[in-house]
Amino acid sequence: MIIGIDDTDSNEGMCTTYLGALLLDELRAYGNVETLPLLIRLNPTIPYKTRGNAAVALKLKTSYPEKVIAHVVSRIEEFARMECEKTNPGAVFILENDYEKLKPVLRSFLEKAVKDVIEIEEAKSLISKFGISSKGFKNGRGLIGALAACGAMLNLAEWDHTFEYLAYRQKKNWGTPREIEKGSFFEADRKTYPETWDTVDLKNRLIVCVPHSADPVLFGIRGKNPDTVTKAASLIRAEPVERLAIYRTNQGTDMHLISVESLAEIRDMHSYRLEGTVSAVPKTIHGGHVIFPIRDEERNEIDCAAFEPTKNFRLLIRKLRPGDRVALSGSVNSGTLNIEKIEIKTLASLYREENPVCPTCGKHMKSSGQTQGFRCKKCGTQATSKIKYEIKRNFAAGLYEVPPCARRHLAKPLVREQRSDIEIHPAR
Ligand code: ATP
Repeated sequence: MIIGIDDTDSNEGMCTTYLGALLLDELRAYGNVETLPLLIRLNPTIPYKTRGNAAVALKLKTSYPEKVIAHVVSRIEEFARMECEKTNPGAVFILENDYEKLKPVLRSFLEKAVKDVIEIEEAKSLISKFGISSKGFKNGRGLIGALAACGAMLNLAEWDHTFEYLAYRQKKNWGTPREIEKGSFFEADRKTYPETWDTVDLKNRLIVCVPHSADPVLFGIRGKNPDTVTKAASLIRAEPVERLAIYRTNQGTDMHLISVESLAEIRDMHSYRLEGTVSAVPKTIHGGHVIFPIRDEERNEIDCAAFEPTKNFRLLIRKLRPGDRVALSGSVNSGTLNIEKIEIKTLASLYREENPVCPTCGKHMKSSGQTQGFRCKKCGTQATSKIKYEIKRNFAAGLYEVPPCARRHLAKPLVREQRSDIEIHPAR
């Protein structure tokens, strides 16, 4: 059977992936775990999310589905932060007999949950239409993520994936500062990058794989396959771990991006890959955010932002000029695209004009008045117009991204990019 779970945590603690790891260990009493658990990131713009909008799915071969359901429900009741208004857990159970029937239905549901906005009623009516076993708590919003995670499990071959090794803290330490040896994270990165990524942010000298909140996660190593994330994790020195899980995940795949032809199609709470021409010089606004508009052929415009947390990425964005042709990816909220990646396709030619230089003495000539041309005061030489110089743009066309410390979970890091038609500049 497949078990999907979502929405068990609050800002004060817990994490649905911890419950997934716990259940994975406990449910072995009722059967065999069939494949790696899934950590599925859903629409990153959803306001109900606690942090990263994650849902979890497990797959178990069992002859005791009723016992499994009872166990999962009791663990959710015990661990979920029900007191938090935003916590509305959901669990979905799909029996083997229903796999084929539900595969296409939940494939579309997954796609929609990652890219679009779903009403709770839609999840509930799907559950009743197909007679799916489920348990929703409070308003049951978690059923949305739980169904989507089951859709991912039923369609494993249909989506790009990466892996994350998650290490969890001993319960007595939850909520206290994490004891970690910082140097070991840099060492793990040095020895396993580019097979792993986003362990540290070298330029900003930060460890990015250790959360700061009260949740049970000690660290999470992201990478290409289970072996490399395990190797990196083995190099980390930190406080004792209660348990671990290696998740197969849609993190780092760009699964959230919708390609659009026209900027007129763009809506808030969705994420896009779009192309346009920079239509004004980027401005730095209060708070250090850098904003500029792009325009498409039909003259539709959208503001694009490199917010302050994107740190050094803003230096590149400030160099853009009207006429530069770009393709951007990111999420749209309040009519502004939060940039995750930029492909600078072509740079506009920029010119600077200067008074002509006297061929005899080498000094700049002076204007002789409007439409009167230019004249060297000393030698009397004359010229009709200013000289145009092309300004050298001190960066190249290519693919650029925000640094690891500002990465969105779903954004595909450039270290995974396979394109050979363009220069790729992975941030580290
Ligand atoms: P957790 O660790 O508990 O999963 P989180 O940061 O991942 O924390 P949730 O607490 O799961 O966030 O909150 C997200 C809520 O939004 C869930 O109830 C989920 O079912 C719901 N949700 C996810 N994707 C969508 C979507 N596309 N449309 C509407 N609701 C969604």
